Order: sequence, then structure tokens, then C-alpha cells
Amino acid sequence: MTSRLAVIAGPTAVGKGTVVRHLLAEHPEFQLSVSATTRAPRPGERDGVDYFFWTQKRFDEAIANNELLEYATVHGLNRYGTPRKPVEEALALGKHVVLEIDIQGASQVKAAMPEAVTIFIQPPSWEELVRRLSSRGTEDEAEQEKRLATARIELASADDFDYQVINDEVAKCAAQVVELMS
Ligand code: 5GP
Repeated sequence: MTSRLAVIAGPTAVGKGTVVRHLLAEHPEFQLSVSATTRAPRPGERDGVDYFFWTQKRFDEAIANNELLEYATVHGLNRYGTPRKPVEEALALGKHVVLEIDIQGASQVKAAMPEAVTIFIQPPSWEELVRRLSSRGTEDEAEQEKRLATARIELASADDFDYQVINDEVAKCAAQVVELMS
């Protein structure tokens, strides 16, 4: 098996995280890249596991030192980026590496590494996306509005991805991603 880089993107609350967690649990040959972010941890999130929680200064240093494979400001608020070294090391060990990032980051990765497989996760419908976002209850109404505005823009760029997969059922969606990687 040739190791490959999978870039998974899609609108807020589409269930990317759930799909990726399912995939990792079933397929040890896949490894998740832990992103860095300047946003504050949510309750229960652990530094180095869910994200590397960095200060603005640390993030600036990482950019200056070319430590990031890609980075972007997401939802006009916080910065997120993919540390380059762990990705390169995992690929060298023959792992498939999964990046769960936003669409700006996805296009940066594709430009830098054209061999990366970019996959856009689609919701079954717009209404279902809105329902998933409000029912998870992690964002207040203003933040939900902001995320839905970003989602509209993101959905419009789905055609730029190598593949699109609909997340109507997590296990099925994860299996389709695995199939695209093999
Ligand atoms: P959240 O704050 O809900 O954890 O993530 C918000 C958004 O940031 C998600 O759409 C997620 O895909 C994106 N994101 C997470 N990590 C990265 C990253 O390393 N790079 C980029 N470009 N986006 C990321």
C-alpha cells in the first residue's frame, strides 16, 4: 500500500469529525494529523490530542519558520494550521495521513502536494446541515449564523475537490473515503 495524504473538508457540522473518528477506529493504517489553533479549548479538549492550542505569537513563529504545511483563518476568527513535520514522518512510515481542515487549507495542500486526495463531505441537504449544527449546541446563535454563512461559501467550492461523499450515514461515508484512498 502506498501511503497517501487524504484531505477531508466540508461545511460546519456536516460530521467530518465523526466520519474521521470512525475511519481511524476501523483502520489503523490511517493516522490523523493534529492541527494547531489559536482558539481556546472547549471543555474536554486536550492539548496535543484534539489540537495544539497555540498563542498568536507561537502561531506567527510557526509560519515564519515554515513549520506549517497550510494555515488559514477560519470563520473570520481563529487561525488553524497543519504542522508539517508529523505529516511527513507518518507518510515516511507508510501511513495514510488524514487532514481534517477547511477548504482554504485544502486548496493550499493540493497546490503544494498535488498527489494528495481531496475529499469534500456533503450533507444530505441544507436543512439537515442546519439541524445538525443547532442540535449539537456547542455554538450560540450568533456563532451558528457565522458558521452557516461560511458553509454556503464552502458548499459552492465542492467541485474543486477530487471527490465528494455524502454523509448520510457515518459508517457508509467512512467506507467510501477508505475506498477512495485505495
Ligand atoms: P473547530 O473550531 O470547530 O474545531 O474547527 C473549525 C474549523 O477549522 C473546521 O471547519 C475545521 O475543518 C477547520 N480546521 C481545523 N484544523 C484545521 C487546520 O489545520 N487547517 C485549516 N485550514 N483548517 C482547520
